Amino acid sequence: MMDTEGRLIIVSNRLPFRSEERGGGPLLVKSSGGLVSSIGSFLHRRLGEGAGTATGRRPIWVGATDMRARRAGKPGEGAAAAGLFEVSPVILPDATKDRHYNGFSNDTLWPLFHYFPSLARYEEEWFTHYRTANRLFFDALAKVIGPGDRVWVHDYHLMLLPSLLRGAFPDLPIAFFLHIPFPSYEVFRLLPALWRRELLEGMLGADLVGMQTHDHVQYFLKSVQQLLGLELDLRTVMGRSRSTVVDAFPVSIDPERFRRAFDDHAVVAEKNQLRKNMAGRRLVLSVDRLDYTKGILQRLQGYEHLLDTRPDLAGKVSYLLQIVPSRDAITKYKELKERIEATVGRINGRFGSVDWQPVIHQYRSVDHRRLCALYQAADVALIAPLRDGMNLVAKEYVAARKDKRGVLILSETAGAANELGGALIINPTDRAAVADALSQALAMPAEEQSARMAEMQERLARYDVVRWAEDQFHQLDGAVALRRRLQVKEITTDARKTLLASYRTATRRWLFLDHDGTLVPFTKLPADALPGDKLRSLLERLLSDPCNSIAVVSGRDRGTLGAWYERLPIHLVAEHGAYLRSPEGQWTWTSVRTDWMGPVNALFQQFQDRCPGSLVEQKTTAIAWHYRGAAPDLGFMRSRELMNVLNDMARSFDFQIIEGNKVIEVRPMGIDKGSAVRQLLASRPAGFVLAIGDDRTDEDLFKALPPGAFSIKVGIPPSHARYCIRGPEDVSALLAALVDRPVNTSLKSP
Ligand code: UDP
Repeated sequence: MMDTEGRLIIVSNRLPFRSEERGGGPLLVKSSGGLVSSIGSFLHRRLGEGAGTATGRRPIWVGATDMRARRAGKPGEGAAAAGLFEVSPVILPDATKDRHYNGFSNDTLWPLFHYFPSLARYEEEWFTHYRTANRLFFDALAKVIGPGDRVWVHDYHLMLLPSLLRGAFPDLPIAFFLHIPFPSYEVFRLLPALWRRELLEGMLGADLVGMQTHDHVQYFLKSVQQLLGLELDLRTVMGRSRSTVVDAFPVSIDPERFRRAFDDHAVVAEKNQLRKNMAGRRLVLSVDRLDYTKGILQRLQGYEHLLDTRPDLAGKVSYLLQIVPSRDAITKYKELKERIEATVGRINGRFGSVDWQPVIHQYRSVDHRRLCALYQAADVALIAPLRDGMNLVAKEYVAARKDKRGVLILSETAGAANELGGALIINPTDRAAVADALSQALAMPAEEQSARMAEMQERLARYDVVRWAEDQFHQLDGAVALRRRLQVKEITTDARKTLLASYRTATRRWLFLDHDGTLVPFTKLPADALPGDKLRSLLERLLSDPCNSIAVVSGRDRGTLGAWYERLPIHLVAEHGAYLRSPEGQWTWTSVRTDWMGPVNALFQQFQDRCPGSLVEQKTTAIAWHYRGAAPDLGFMRSRELMNVLNDMARSFDFQIIEGNKVIEVRPMGIDKGSAVRQLLASRPAGFVLAIGDDRTDEDLFKALPPGAFSIKVGIPPSHARYCIRGPEDVSALLAALVDRPVNTSLKSP
């Protein structure tokens, strides 16, 4: 990403530093939190090493600032002074800043996405300001974006930004990364319908959506399917007009930075001082931003349980609770702070003595040196959030232990638990489990500590912050290429001319034509969509040219298709390729497993009953449930439910589920329009190939065509076809143009 002509534009809600009033005026200090740590480390590592600077194009970091406009200073100031990146501040009006950040972002999305739905507030006014803030970010970016640039948007404050950018910059490469968990569908759907739709569509403006874990990816995709009704091709969302790739990229750290600190004199001195102060006591450490998601109270109760059940530890262990101030403008955070102080007071009151403080509580930020000293001095790191997208502190503790000593206790509900298998994994709400893990950690032999640390350090070395970022850039390139491939263009007059010229010069031609939605418009009842006289005579005219072979390639059953096209000497592909009819009227078929048909049929009948207006179409090798005739809302809702059940069933049966236009179809594996068309092409190679279709199943057909073929999707992209066309009427017009005699200009010559 760094080596291209354009720049990398990083966008996050806040710039990575804030101003603090100190003696001689405002001073810029680094902001706290995982987002700043990860992107900051990436820039230091990647650009600090000199890579990427060769192009002379430094990345730009766009974010809101707490500085007044006049103080914002010129780009390159303060924390950006290392010369690694430029900054472009976004100034939000105070009211918007408050409702966007403290309101919708941190009092609606944050609690909901961290599984605290009872804390989430739903205020229309906040969402309005959330929209405004995203729009102001867009305005600022629109002034900055230049040719060849790529934009990397971060986190839940800016979920609407990708689609705003997409609207104005159709070809801009956009990646979006969500640092917090994406919740399960049942939790996400608690948001009002309009908001949740806008948020999903907002993110889908990106080419690549990155999440912390595969679970989050699955939850997101399920919400997209359930709430937007979009189709998926593995992890690619086939949007209404473009595609988006969704994948997991667990955020990481620069392990070397923490490892190096192990031999730094200043850090070592600070660690020794700490150990001296501990006077031989064992040290349990935690470092968190003040937040209810971090489970600080529950963890204190676990520690209290340890002291209750292990009186022998009295005077032999201390817990250093390092809390970094955060979001103190929000009432819940103020209340939490008070409750933590009260709990610490109670524990110290119950167990402490004149020369032993069981919990040492520090409420302030620490610099890198102090942080490394804490990591090195701690016998145990107790990282027990109730819910966390990743948790970088856990990774930093592991990286800091060059001596391979120390034990990490980690919540199963932190994203990091997926990667750090050497940790003692606990459920943070289970006091006894926390106490047990602490006992086990304090008694763990050195060899076991070392083996566990080695395993985790190896993982961190392999997947560090540079890999995290570059994996995204790499996948972004692929996602952009895919989007461009799928973003077919409406067939232009020039393209039509080329098509006609190619048709006329070829002596052997193939026309592959889908039936429903292509040759004939959709009807409420599938049985009504028979080919009319006009279409039949058009096909006859095409067939009168011996150079032409025509195949109607359909998902319809062979009985219906055979009857409809009975006397026309064309090829028929029925049931998506399970049956083939020659122009002479002979049927051939592929044998397939049908053991799934009984259970699927029973299920479809159930859905037909539960959704008035829908109907089941039974074919020889496939079953389809059509809901075009049902009330749109109910049909859509039931179709989501049915997809759910079918996805479950697909684990035990060998079938494929195809979502078409208001139809869900189940058919055997290994059969698709593509394989049927390949067979026909092999039996009669041709110099001109035209394929037209409207459906998801026609994508298989498009993919099977030889280079140079003309493929046309009816409707809007994304599609593997080369062109798109509006509807069946335009298809007829195009086919008619093939058989209309061209004006022979030579006859007109004098
Ligand atoms: N950190 C910080 N200031 C401090 C203490 C810690 O910036 O005073 C850093 C810490 O090193 C880590 C990040 O803040 O990189 C916290 O990230 P984490 O993923 O653990 O939690 P988040 O704050 O993002 O919820």
